[in-house]
Amino acid sequence: MLNIVLFGPPGAGKGTQSEKLIASRSLVHLSTGDLFRKHLNEGTPLGEKAQSFMDEGRLVPDEIVIGMVEDTIQNHMDAKGFIFDGFPRTVAQAEALDVMLKNYNLGISGMISLEVPEPELISRLLDRGKTSGRVDDQNESKIAVRIEEYQNKTAPVADYYERQGKFNGIDGVGSIDQIFEKIDSVVSAF
Ligand code: AMP
Repeated sequence: MLNIVLFGPPGAGKGTQSEKLIASRSLVHLSTGDLFRKHLNEGTPLGEKAQSFMDEGRLVPDEIVIGMVEDTIQNHMDAKGFIFDGFPRTVAQAEALDVMLKNYNLGISGMISLEVPEPELISRLLDRGKTSGRVDDQNESKIAVRIEEYQNKTAPVADYYERQGKFNGIDGVGSIDQIFEKIDSVVSAF
C-alpha cells in the first residue's frame, strides 16, 4: 500500500492537493476534517462530541479522532493506499497511526509537509470562508486559534516523521499545478 501523510497548517492546500493525488494514484482520501463535518451534518453522536471543539477551532480529543480513523481504515482494507489529510495532528495520533498500520503489516510510506507563510494562510482561509460555509473559516479570531493549535500541538508531528526519515518539505506557494508536480515527483520516490 502507498500510505501518504499530507501535512501542513490550515489553509496550506492539503484538501486541494489530496484531490489531485487521489485522481492520479487511485488512493482513498482519509480527511478527518471531512469525516467530522459529515458526522455533524448527519447529527451522529460522534458529530455532537466534536462540534464544540470544531466551532472554536480547537483540536478534537485524540481518542475520538483515532477511533474514527481506525474504523475508516478497517472499512477500506482493499484500498491501494490512503492519503491522510489533516491527520495525524498530534504526536499521540502519529504514534497511534503507526500502531494501527503495523497491526496490518503496513506503514507510512512518506510524509509531505506543505509550507506556507502565516499571512498567506490567513488570507486563503478568509477567502475560503466566503464560499465554504465553514464557521471556522469566517473570522480572524477562529483562524488565529486554529493556527495556534497547529503551532502548539501539530508542528511537533513534523519532527516525529523527520526522526523516521519520512519528512519531505515542499513550498506550498505557487499555482496548484506547480505544487502538485513537486508533490508527485516526491511521491514517485516513496
Ligand atoms: P480541517 O478540515 O482539517 O481543517 O479540520 C476542521 C476541524 O476538525 C479542526 O479545526 C478540528 O477541530 C477538527 N479536526 C480535524 N482533524 C483533526 C485531527 N486530526 N485531530 C483533532 N481535531 C481534528
